[in-house]
Amino acid sequence: MKVDPETQAAAVNPLWWWLPLVALLAGLLVLPWQRELSQPLGDLLQRLLAPPKAPAGVVIVDIDDNSLQQLRPELGPWPFKRDAFALVIEHLRSAGVRAVVLDVLLADPREGDPALARTLARPGPPVLLAAAGLPPAQPVEGPQAALHWTAVIEPSATLGATAAQQGIVTAPLGADGRLRQVQLWHSAAGQRWPAMPLRMWQTLDGAGAGTGADSAPPPWPQDAQGRVTLTLPRCADCLPHLSFARLWQAALRGEPDAALAAQLQGQVVVVGSSAVLVDRAMTVHGQVSGAEALALSYTALRDGQWLRSAPIALQALFWLLALAPALWVWWRGPSALSLALRASALLALLMVLTAALLQSVARIDAAQAAPAAVLAAGAAAIALLRQRWQQRERERLDRARAVAAAANDAKTTLLANVSHEIRTPLNAVLGVAELLAATPLNDRQRQHVAVFQQAGELLSDLINDLLDLTKIEAGKLELHAEVFALRPLLVRVVDMLQVRATQKGLSLTLDLAADLPEAVLADRRRLQQALTNLVGNAIKFTAQGSVQLQVAPAGNGRVRFEVADTGIGIAASKIDSIFDPFVQADSSITRTYGGTGLGLAITRTVVQHMGGSVQVRSTPGLGSVFSIELPLPSATLAPPPNAAPDPGVRHARVLLAEDNEVNTYIFLAMLEGRGLRIDTAANGLTALQMARERRYGVIFMDLQMPGMDGLQATAELRRHEQEHGLPRAQVVALTAHSFAEDIQRCLDAGCDHHMAKPVSRAHLLELLERLLPRDPQDAPAAATLPAPLDDAASPVLDPSAALAGLGGATGLHQRVLDHAAVFLASWTQDYDAAASQLARRRALAHDLRGVAHSVGATALADAAHHLEQALQAAEPAGPQLARAQAAVQDAIAPVVVTLTRRPSA
Ligand code: ADP
Repeated sequence: MKVDPETQAAAVNPLWWWLPLVALLAGLLVLPWQRELSQPLGDLLQRLLAPPKAPAGVVIVDIDDNSLQQLRPELGPWPFKRDAFALVIEHLRSAGVRAVVLDVLLADPREGDPALARTLARPGPPVLLAAAGLPPAQPVEGPQAALHWTAVIEPSATLGATAAQQGIVTAPLGADGRLRQVQLWHSAAGQRWPAMPLRMWQTLDGAGAGTGADSAPPPWPQDAQGRVTLTLPRCADCLPHLSFARLWQAALRGEPDAALAAQLQGQVVVVGSSAVLVDRAMTVHGQVSGAEALALSYTALRDGQWLRSAPIALQALFWLLALAPALWVWWRGPSALSLALRASALLALLMVLTAALLQSVARIDAAQAAPAAVLAAGAAAIALLRQRWQQRERERLDRARAVAAAANDAKTTLLANVSHEIRTPLNAVLGVAELLAATPLNDRQRQHVAVFQQAGELLSDLINDLLDLTKIEAGKLELHAEVFALRPLLVRVVDMLQVRATQKGLSLTLDLAADLPEAVLADRRRLQQALTNLVGNAIKFTAQGSVQLQVAPAGNGRVRFEVADTGIGIAASKIDSIFDPFVQADSSITRTYGGTGLGLAITRTVVQHMGGSVQVRSTPGLGSVFSIELPLPSATLAPPPNAAPDPGVRHARVLLAEDNEVNTYIFLAMLEGRGLRIDTAANGLTALQMARERRYGVIFMDLQMPGMDGLQATAELRRHEQEHGLPRAQVVALTAHSFAEDIQRCLDAGCDHHMAKPVSRAHLLELLERLLPRDPQDAPAAATLPAPLDDAASPVLDPSAALAGLGGATGLHQRVLDHAAVFLASWTQDYDAAASQLARRRALAHDLRGVAHSVGATALADAAHHLEQALQAAEPAGPQLARAQAAVQDAIAPVVVTLTRRPSA
């Protein structure tokens, strides 16, 4: 099985074991402050979920500012004489109250104490008195959990109150000053007191009700310090209130008014003051007076409005849920990142909802700050990881893309190279076929040559298509707009294919609208290619009938080309796919009609690049219509040059630089009998030397040659011409491809013209016709030129010495010379290519000396010897090496030229 390395990489768990640990750590760090940190959510839930109604059974009697003012004439300033309380308590008892709680501290003895003591001692509804803790206080944990005060201030002994009649009214508040809990027990100096709400519950509701004793353990869940968490009703001050003054007046009158009696009957009355003592407390719902806080705390205990903390198992569950996303990512790796992040948000919501549900239904205070911290830290880490992972993925993709692009480039280069290699012999085949066709042949031979030519052309088309496709795939398709006459182009397309149509017995017609623009601006070559493809296909897939190319303006500067045939047609289901590369409507097509399935793919891409579109309609069995619609802006043609071709024979001299002997042979054969003198050079160096020595009418320069290539040779020639003020020789580049960028490279190097191989005879003659001067100047160039290299005064080669060295064996001598020509022609290139390989350079220098010596090139052998020595030096670099290299360069060129130069034709 083949495993895609990328998929594999994505599935590898990147060992994010630290992720759950980080989340867990965050939770543990928060744990000590869990209660405080959970409070905002707890308070919010309380505000939303607390019972909306005031609890029943409690009335507040408030010694408010108003009461103080009203009673001042009778009772004097605060604190009142104690018999005032006695009178009011007696009155409340007679009104049928359930109990009276005095939230007023009666610490020191005062006037009227005996009267109050008598009232307290009298049987009847219980009266409870306030005691207060003297700070600072300290919590005590364990079974005797309590708040331990420095001292407790009890009611004055003169009142004779029993322990069971006392409760602590000092209520500890939370860190933020809010009342959320009741501290059940208080202690000081080895004694314990219940809090007043607890004392009220014991006296009125507990198992030992009536005695006030703490005989039964209270049923509420307490924390370690003995506190009970309460949920107070939503309306903070909605308990019924009575003013103390009103009660006092009713007590004085001796009988309660009916309305007052109805309010007091069976109620627990808490007497407190909102005036004198600044006795106020904050709850989550708002501010209340001390008496109200007392009353609300009592009713909350009585009515079961408390919360227990979550059991360990539940808390563990929350922790686990909060850890789940981090654990999931750890387990599943990168693919889980996005999901885990979404799950985190969902879990957060779930935790809030669960907390609300627990609080309202199960009376559980699910303090969730720590699990929330676990969740948040996990989510933050996951988000960070996701970001980093995505970044890495992007980088990886970029790298993969770069690799793919490089591979594609390599493919393009390979294709270009291979096609060049195919073209060279193909050119030979086509060239020879053309030459053969021009000789007298019998019919059978003519047929054979025709097949030969057709097959060659097909192969040539295929290579061009393949190259086009690689260009398109590499995104390197470029358009080169030029102004050209439209009609001649269309006529040419049809003319070119007419032969094929005629051979099949088809009529091929061109139908041009009268109002077509004369000249247009577009990529001429590409337009011709697209139309040739369509018309070619039409002929290919039509057995009898006709093929018609119809061209007409389509408005808005657009032109419509329609190719209609009466051929086999295309099934509707295949119409979409025939434009894909290598797709043919039917796999049997190749067998029957040939082709590769590249044509339409290229046509469509080319047309789209030109801003147009290709459409097809077809009826199987009846024929197809392919149409191209293109923007073709009309333009004005430049006036044609008035150089009328002169069909006369020219006695011009032409230089062909071409390393391939077959190509040279064909070239010479094509121009045979034309009265031209043709010199040939097998490499750039020789060509350059020859062009320097003589003025040629035209120089044909193959681009790919060993040693110095055609571009280099042309550039050198241009430099030379400039240096010596010589006229420019006309250089025609011979290239394997006719892509715009190839042509551009030729022009940049100083070539004047460009001819793509395979060179056709007609094209060659037409070009020469155009380029050769009417009055040929077949003469050596100006006298400023360097003397010919094989000057007898300083022979580059000494053949006699070389021959003597070989014992006079001429056959062997010729082979040595042939080898030297090949070796020396590419020596410079080989040496440059070995720039970083010292050993190879030494070997090359050594061989150079040997080869130079064997052909009698003494100067070159000496230069090579010096180079060899320079390369043997400890630090083979610097001026000495540079000098030695330059000397070899200078010495090698004339030897190569002399060795490879052929006698002029
Ligand atoms: P090729 O001609 O090399 O097979 P193309 O890309 O030019 O490749 O065409 C793709 C396919 O589209 C052809 O193989 C043929 O099935 C179908 N096709 C193209 N032109 C015609 C036509 N004029 N009539 C019928 N079929 C056609």
